[in-house]
Amino acid sequence: MTLQTPYYLIDKASLLRNMEKIARVREKSGAKALLALKCFATWSVFDFMRQYMDGTTSSSLYEVRLGHERFGGETHAYSVAYADYEIDEVVSHADKIIFNTIGQMERFEDRAGNIARGLRLNPGISSSSFDLADPARPFSRLGEWDAGKVEKVMDRISGFMIHNNCENSDFSLFDRMLSQIEEKFGSLLGRAQWVSLGGGIHFTGDDYPLDAFCERLKAFADRFGIQVYLEPGEASITRSTTLEVSVLDTLFNGKQLAIVDSSIEAHMLDLLIYRESARVAPNEGPHRYMVCGKSCLAGDIFGEFDFPAELKIGDRISIQDAAGYTMVKKNWFNGVKMPAIAIRELDGSINVVREFSFADYEQSLS
Ligand SMILES: *Cc1c(COP(=O)(O)O)cnc(C)c1O
Repeated sequence: MTLQTPYYLIDKASLLRNMEKIARVREKSGAKALLALKCFATWSVFDFMRQYMDGTTSSSLYEVRLGHERFGGETHAYSVAYADYEIDEVVSHADKIIFNTIGQMERFEDRAGNIARGLRLNPGISSSSFDLADPARPFSRLGEWDAGKVEKVMDRISGFMIHNNCENSDFSLFDRMLSQIEEKFGSLLGRAQWVSLGGGIHFTGDDYPLDAFCERLKAFADRFGIQVYLEPGEASITRSTTLEVSVLDTLFNGKQLAIVDSSIEAHMLDLLIYRESARVAPNEGPHRYMVCGKSCLAGDIFGEFDFPAELKIGDRISIQDAAGYTMVKKNWFNGVKMPAIAIRELDGSINVVREFSFADYEQSLS
């Protein structure tokens, strides 16, 4: 039986490649690795990922609850701001809570008395080339900047979270920024028991110098006598998942166009937000097409790709890298059929773990 498109296809063998690198970093550096749920929360593969990672980190009550209930292990709670009505439930699901500001910590520390408490620090430097995703952008609300202010509350917290990398595949840049953090926050780190260095480090990439990375993490941990955590999101699931679509129509309007049974706005929104093209592999051949979504948004375009043959109605296209910031952002714009979720097991068999129906669309509003 061939599966009805559209569907996201998670390939466990590809996921395993990332997981084994994460396991190696844990072993060689002593750092712990927590999956960042805001990037990827498809819990059907958590049983698999749990064997290679220590737990999860979160950005909201729902994420921390999902991490606790579906992943287990160590569960870090973080949020830009907690509300009164959610803090008790957040604490009930977490073994560490990281406050974004001293103000939030002072407001809620009594209600988080029985778990480890930490603060987010903002070193004011980042590797992001997008203002939108730059935690160190001017006037950033993400974390405390002033070491002197944090010094005064050191007796009330045991650790820190610093997330300042963004899609950083350059080890020397990571290394330099970590040195700047050591300089700026060294006295605080020396008094802490743990620090999370956040996500955004693309250490599962093909050419990443994994050994140098592990040594750097270990030297950092040893210098301050501290447990290091990493919070890989994209690095955990990169290149593990495709969005499988079919061609519904082709036309020529100055360019060859192909319309598929999916929508970049609804099913790969992150690409649209960052104005990036989707990717198709191998993207080779004499026939170039602009692959377009079926929503009525004029700019619902996945990108322009090369194909070995002319596209015909019913042809399948695999859009690459459809896991990170993609499945978590899918939405019901235009009422486009929601992609199912399928998993290719290590033995090659494919299981559909979730299909969505009209009822899901209807129940997403009232
Ligand atoms: C987004 C985020 C992550 C994950 O980032 P990736 O780039 O997906 O690795 C980790 N920690 C924090 C605090 C984040 O905001």
